Amino acid sequence: MKIVWWKWLPFQRWRVVGEAESADEIPDRLPRNGVALVAASGRNKWIVFDCPCRYGHRIMLNVDESRRPFWTLQPSKRLTISPSVDFHDSNKRCHYFIRGGRILWAKGDR
Ligand SMILES: [Zn+2]
Repeated sequence: MKIVWWKWLPFQRWRVVGEAESADEIPDRLPRNGVALVAASGRNKWIVFDCPCRYGHRIMLNVDESRRPFWTLQPSKRLTISPSVDFHDSNKRCHYFIRGGRILWAKGDR
């Protein structure tokens, strides 16, 4: 997956920074607030990004409506994803919304 140089500039809102045909092609490093889209044969499959909690874990959400659960993504310069992202593991929970390119943390989870 190729990411053009200006996508690495700081202080940008959440947005799609590149597209790949499979999740294997997504680089280990993504620009801050950058989301990679996996799409094959004109169909969106996954979105992949580093969690905004900055603990360095990667989030992968299904955006293919034929499989559940799925998220919807509004393809615009300022990313909106619905429903919310709710990640948990044994010691933390990351629950937030991505609206208009910004992160809105769900109340009470941090
Ligand atoms: Zn997190």
